[in-house]
Amino acid sequence: MTEKPLASTPANGCNGSSRHLRTGVEPAGGFRVARAGFDYLIVGAGFAGSVLAERLAAGSNKRVLLIDRRPHIGGNAYDHYDDHGILVHRYGPHIFHTNSAEVAAYLSRFTKWRPYEHRVRAFVDGRLLPIPINRTTINTLYGLDLSSEEEARAWFAARAEPVPRIRTSEDVVISQVGRELYEKFFRGYTRKQWGMDPSELDKAVTARVPTRTNTDDRYFTDSFQMMPAHGFTRMFENMLDHPNIKILLNADFREVANAVRYDRLIFTGPIDEFFDYRFGKLPYRSLRFEHSTLDQENLQPVAVVNYPSEAVPHTRITEYKHLTGQVHPKTSITHEYPSADGDPYYPVPRPENAELYRKYQALADATPNVVFVGRLATYRYYNMDQVVGQALSVYARLTGTKRSHAVGDGERAAPQAAGQARVAAPAAAE
Ligand SMILES: Cc1cc2nc3c(=O)[nH]c(=O)nc-3n(C[C@H](O)[C@H](O)[C@H](O)COP(=O)(O)OP(=O)(O)OC[C@H]3O[C@@H](n4cnc5c(N)ncnc54)[C@H](O)[C@@H]3O)c2cc1C
Repeated sequence: MTEKPLASTPANGCNGSSRHLRTGVEPAGGFRVARAGFDYLIVGAGFAGSVLAERLAAGSNKRVLLIDRRPHIGGNAYDHYDDHGILVHRYGPHIFHTNSAEVAAYLSRFTKWRPYEHRVRAFVDGRLLPIPINRTTINTLYGLDLSSEEEARAWFAARAEPVPRIRTSEDVVISQVGRELYEKFFRGYTRKQWGMDPSELDKAVTARVPTRTNTDDRYFTDSFQMMPAHGFTRMFENMLDHPNIKILLNADFREVANAVRYDRLIFTGPIDEFFDYRFGKLPYRSLRFEHSTLDQENLQPVAVVNYPSEAVPHTRITEYKHLTGQVHPKTSITHEYPSADGDPYYPVPRPENAELYRKYQALADATPNVVFVGRLATYRYYNMDQVVGQALSVYARLTGTKRSHAVGDGERAAPQAAGQARVAAPAAAE
């Protein structure tokens, strides 16, 4: 995140005009925000914006206007019931996992949880095989009977190719498991996902995917792996249910900036857009989601199946009932198709893009009274828990409190969270 210390003289940070903005203007929906005046305008109602709105309102009694240009809160984590009554994720599967007890405790104030450990299969050579690659993957694929970690280690070592200096994603995988597994599991998937060959991509892209010599087939190994019992959107609703928070949807920052009075700005949108693409566009990879509902109870054995083959255009299929535990005679799924155009999802990790971002970051550092936070404002891929942690740190800095005090333990419990306890699913963990 990029943050500037907030000066004592308020400004709106965007066009240099002061807090004394035009009054009496009513943006979209006749929402009377202009006359009220706010301590903070927060742009973006995803994790970054919503955590900061909650903290500033409930923890510091600030008046917050939270806006989003989408018609809903929750950012990319937004989920909703589709036309068939099945809970689905609009922007692809979001699985919550963290090693931060603090982040888990903070979010637990707004939701109950249901235990869920994510498992993924890859469709390779006509079979569904565990990914990350583990001992079961190679035993099944090659008809082996490796029974110990030592045997599996030796098997991988015999196939791994020595790479003197690991620079690219291809180097990472080939040096661990050799060329054949690389081609079966990684090359096609990566080429589809990024529109580039792994040999052109930074090592960071596949460094996230481990290879295992045991039979653990969980996708994540974090200490806390749970899904919000009633979905992410319900959790966001509880978080934002505070009299000091006003929410304005279908509202772009540019439409609202001059129509409301506010002292300080928190921006969680794309940093290059904020500065009118002065140095050019920061490249992103996008996705097209094709949502559908099948007239059958289940499609696949796990929530996500990857399709590494370049013969099929999609990269993966998600079946949501595995994530939510919902029981329903039909099942809703999403095919994901990577694309160059569309909403910005994945920053493209190449050195020239990091350099371009640094130029925007320098501009941000020189812009008083604006805090840039979240994945789009810092041009970095973050998991949800990382964004929550980042937002809590920003709140601590803005208010001069210690990060350990910033989560506000002991403040009022969100009223709907209490109500929610009464309707929590039996499987929900406390
Ligand atoms: C396909 C996919 C799958 C993912 N799966 C996982 C997962 O399984 N687990 C995990 O931990 N993380 C996952 N993530 C990452 C997760 O989505 C992010 O960590 C999280 O959404 C970041 O929150 P944010 O608030 O920074 O950004 P966002 O959620 O993107 O929120 C930013 C909001 O700002 C709004 N906005 C932007 N510009 C403007 C403007 N000018 N005016 C008004 N509003 C504006 C946008 O509409 C958006 O709603 C996934 C991401 C993707 C793309």
